Amino acid sequence: MKQTLDDRAAQDTRTAAQAAERLARVRIVLIHTTHPGNIGAAARAMKVMGLSQLHLVAPEATFPSADATALASGAADLLHTAKVHDDLEGALEGCRLVMGTSARLRSLSMPQMDVRRAAVESLAETVGEESGDVAILFGREAWGLTNEEIQRCHQLVHIETNPDFGSLNLAQAVQVVSYELRMAALDDTSIERAPLDWAPVDAVQMERFYEHLEQTLLDIRFLNPDQPKRLMMRLRRLFNRARPDQNEMNILRGILAAAQREAKGDPGDHR
Ligand code: SAH
Repeated sequence: MKQTLDDRAAQDTRTAAQAAERLARVRIVLIHTTHPGNIGAAARAMKVMGLSQLHLVAPEATFPSADATALASGAADLLHTAKVHDDLEGALEGCRLVMGTSARLRSLSMPQMDVRRAAVESLAETVGEESGDVAILFGREAWGLTNEEIQRCHQLVHIETNPDFGSLNLAQAVQVVSYELRMAALDDTSIERAPLDWAPVDAVQMERFYEHLEQTLLDIRFLNPDQPKRLMMRLRRLFNRARPDQNEMNILRGILAAAQREAKGDPGDHR
């Protein structure tokens, strides 16, 4: 059947509305930002691409500020609705996928991907009513993300640049990422759908699990108490790849609790 101009316009409107819904699920998280102007320019970069959720983790810049508002131009509404958190934990509540942007390819053994692919993967998370938010982290102007922050991420994301000069201004990095997210959101064919019965738990639950896992491995004397972090880094990578859902998480926590009881010589209740 031939598509009329009206059909086409209706389809475009539908695609745009779906894209807007998906982009509304993406949080841009700026960590310890030093320059208020960068916060404003990031808000503008987001709004032109249809993103709306700006999260600030302990900004070093005074916020709100006249400089931020000036550089936001017509995007001051994003500054008004921006959420300010004392720590990263608060910004990640409700997020099932966490991406960390980095100017340098790190020597850390972390999965790293180009921004274009990262945008497609991020958007795939936003399909369906059960889906959660995606967080994309941006580091400090002077030295990026800390190793600890990077460990909270499922993936590291890199914007391809001149190899001799690879560090973008913070707000410009937000612009490139937001643009790629918009392009991915508008391209319906690039969106893969996850199995319907699988909804990974959020980053806060994952963190509680890692704390419980570390404590249990100490209790059963598997971890070296002087150097627990190295093995924990490998285990984080393993479980971040698996991304357990609520049911799987309950099983894992149950196993840890049973191992802890056993280590204490407490008979507990056998399942
Ligand atoms: N000197 C810092 C760069 C900080 S730039 C460093 O070497 O890590 C501020 C932030 O902008 C970075 O933390 C990152 O979030 C983002 N950024 C800058 N350039 C980038 C690039 N090429 N790819 C991905 N993110 C980048």
